Amino acid sequence: MNKKIAVFPGSFDPITVGHVDLVKRAIPLFDQIIVAVGINSQKKYLFNLEQRMQWLEDVFASEDKVVVDSFQGLTAYFCQEKGANYLLRGLRNGSDFDYEKTISQMNNIVGNGLETIFLISAPAYSHISSTIVREVIKGNGEAAAFLPPEVKIEGIG
Ligand code: ADP
Repeated sequence: MNKKIAVFPGSFDPITVGHVDLVKRAIPLFDQIIVAVGINSQKKYLFNLEQRMQWLEDVFASEDKVVVDSFQGLTAYFCQEKGANYLLRGLRNGSDFDYEKTISQMNNIVGNGLETIFLISAPAYSHISSTIVREVIKGNGEAAAFLPPEVKIEGIG
């Protein structure tokens, strides 16, 4: 039987407890989950790629089914390269749905049947986004509640 491999793509700038919850809930569904940092040269990140990947490695160190990787270019091509037939994404609200719907439909065509599996965010995490967490960090606010314990950022509690 084919191994069920999913790619969970994102910026993870930084990884939040919302991302961790999503991956942990998806573990029983797949044989392997590749948490993959997408590199977009047009995008400006708060944390560099090495730092973001190191945090992912630390957070999922004890999860045998989870591997960490990075990619450039189309997510669908990265999935093909890795033999992954599934994409994993999270839905927090209606705006996530509107945004994800078209991307998922495009990926299904470009990726020759690549299926996106969506998990609805747990209520406790649906307000958490990396974008807002970055704003808190930049403003020297208390961001620890949104971050897994492995993510230690100087200057925050
Ligand atoms: P991107 O740059 O692709 O938006 P993110 O790192 O912001 O990457 O998010 C990656 C995935 O994680 C997306 O599918 C997003 O919906 C999901 N996600 C982010 N935050 C949460 C959360 N708090 N709960 C559930 N899913 C989340």
